[in-house]
Amino acid sequence: MYELTDAEWQVMRVLWSQPNQTAQQIHQALQTSNDWTLSTLKTILFRLKGKGLIHYKRQGRAFCYASCLSEQVAIEHAFETLLERSCERKHIDWMTFLLKKAALSKHHIELLQQVLDERKINAPQTIECNCPKGQCICHSNEI
Ligand SMILES: [Zn+2]
Repeated sequence: MYELTDAEWQVMRVLWSQPNQTAQQIHQALQTSNDWTLSTLKTILFRLKGKGLIHYKRQGRAFCYASCLSEQVAIEHAFETLLERSCERKHIDWMTFLLKKAALSKHHIELLQQVLDERKINAPQTIECNCPKGQCICHSNEI
């Protein structure tokens, strides 16, 4: 699968907010947050195209770019990638960190509580380590 750099995320966010934009339009949208030249932006667009994450079509004299994947899918993939980087027994640390850091309204917290209540029904008593030996400390007491 793919991974997105910070710069690529920024471009994808512009295309998620409004598809079918020219490089000039994307460049303009990012002007306040970046001092990229149009040529830098075109390099990023080229890389995103190479990763199969955007497509373009000719519209008059310009090319219009659009995303090939939804923001939701991209965010889910990014978090799955993060979770796969650590022992399943450490997912609680990731979750706790996110819960403390994320911007959450009272309504959001109620939604999260519902998700937790649903998860609790079938949750195991303990989480087993699924790591290969040598990649986490769970196996360190085993001979
Ligand atoms: Zn482990």
